[in-house]
Amino acid sequence: MAKRQVKSKREKERALAVFERLRTAYPDVRCTLDYKNPLQLLIMTILAAQCTDARVNIVCRDLFRKYETPEAFANAAPGALEEAIHACGFFNQKARAIRQSCAIIIEKYNGHVPEDMAALLELPGVGRKIANAVRGECFGKPAVIVDTHCKRVANRLGFTKNSEPRHIEQDLMALWPEKYWTLYSHFMVFHGRAVCRARNPQCDACVVVACCPWPTRKKRDVK
Ligand code: SF4
Repeated sequence: MAKRQVKSKREKERALAVFERLRTAYPDVRCTLDYKNPLQLLIMTILAAQCTDARVNIVCRDLFRKYETPEAFANAAPGALEEAIHACGFFNQKARAIRQSCAIIIEKYNGHVPEDMAALLELPGVGRKIANAVRGECFGKPAVIVDTHCKRVANRLGFTKNSEPRHIEQDLMALWPEKYWTLYSHFMVFHGRAVCRARNPQCDACVVVACCPWPTRKKRDVK
């Protein structure tokens, strides 16, 4: 059962203070997938499941030289696409999702990746995280992107008490100013990778420690 939090003015101010500190700490924040268009980002985010962005970037350098259009992906020779994305893991599943998604994009959207959330969610292999990434990055729609880092950092910062990404997304939407949704999501990822790591978060070196309840909670739990 989701524990929905009502966001008070004070909580929103704290979230904004965290945002400002993260903005200072990570001035060059951006999506770490090197995409050139919505189709590339869609495919890269499908490939990024259980894989690092760095590996996806390497694999996609060759991939996008061979396959440039939805037609090329949808009609890829049996085995060829699987081989090309092998290094990203779960290649059979991912190749199937890419082929089927591209076939739908051709048939229903004239070869263009749709902007609409419901339309994106109909594509095989596309969940809310991918749909929000595409909408926020490529179409300028305010979008909260909840990945594993965002989920962990948001919980530690006390922005949410939920564990389901869908509910975390709603909590963050209620807390963050809409104009910052996409940027704030990137800050959470950067901070989760660099400082607020899954194991041994570097609280002593953290720019938002003064706004974060986690170190105090942790000390209390240890006693
Ligand atoms: S103070 Fe610690 S737990 Fe809180 S955001 Fe920083 S690193 Fe994460």
